[in-house]
Amino acid sequence: MITIKDINEQGRINDSQLHRRIDFHSHSTFSDGALTPKALLSLASEQNIELFSLTDHDTIAGLGEAREAAKVHNIKLVTGVEISTLWKGIPIHLVALNFSEDNSALLEVLDANQKIRIDRAKKIALLLMKQGLPDLFDNAMQEAGTSQIGRPHFARVMVDQNLVKDVNKAFDRYLGNKRLGQLRDVWPDLESVLSVLNGHGMELVLAHPKRYPITVTKLKKLIFDFVQYGGTSLEVSSGNDKPESVRLLEGLIKEHKIKASVGSDFHGPYGPWCQVGKFTPFDEARIGTVWQDW
Ligand code: AMP
Ligand code: MN
Ligand code: MN
Ligand code: MN
Repeated sequence: MITIKDINEQGRINDSQLHRRIDFHSHSTFSDGALTPKALLSLASEQNIELFSLTDHDTIAGLGEAREAAKVHNIKLVTGVEISTLWKGIPIHLVALNFSEDNSALLEVLDANQKIRIDRAKKIALLLMKQGLPDLFDNAMQEAGTSQIGRPHFARVMVDQNLVKDVNKAFDRYLGNKRLGQLRDVWPDLESVLSVLNGHGMELVLAHPKRYPITVTKLKKLIFDFVQYGGTSLEVSSGNDKPESVRLLEGLIKEHKIKASVGSDFHGPYGPWCQVGKFTPFDEARIGTVWQDW
């Protein structure tokens, strides 16, 4: 597993190359993050972040607390959310940024996905039982509490019950996309979500393009479709992306005349996640950015 220490030692992260202190992708306890929005904004402040987005999975319920905390630290909070969708049978994450919190089109999309999450959790519990595990539905719901339930909550319960050694093993053995089978296909189509959300003035960002299990050829097709459907930008650099991936994405942003966003995808201080405000450097002079006017 790559740790934050390894990343820093490999020298991929070079703060001095960043023009502004920004991070437009992060998670809190309102989905599968480890920190409350308040604690997350404190950490962002320690990293001298100026512009920040909380992008919990399929919920904007943490934005009120985040906004209050951002005020305390003099950070400009840009509204954000990470939406689960499906493209050609592959789960794809869409980050929406800079929207109005009472946008009814967005609220409908989130409401639908929240219902899917609960229904999917029931099915995940059944799938795990078929593989010989006990019924973990109630425990996972309890672990999630008022957060949006996801696979990480099942993973944590499995660790607590000594069914697996760690969260990574839980994904490897039981919860990863390959293991989920048809439960991958529960999300709404990327095309339909983008058709509902475009034209409302928000940024529609393809999250962590290099993290999907697809070839570069297929990624190019995804980005082509994404732009046709109304997507406006993609994350040119996400967490510890390889420098060559960032170069590829810079080229695709230019080719499609779309904009760049960036983010750490921070979930917590421990584990494989990048620290708040950390991502592989990119060439800001080459490309347009979502934050240029913020
Ligand atoms: P879900 O939203 O239920 O589809 O769960 C996806 C989330 O699981 C991602 O946003 C990550 O936070 C987490 N995740 C995915 N793969 C792994 C992994 N191999 N180890 C730990 N967490 C993971
Ligand atoms: Mn997550
Ligand atoms: Mn994601
Ligand atoms: Mn994320």
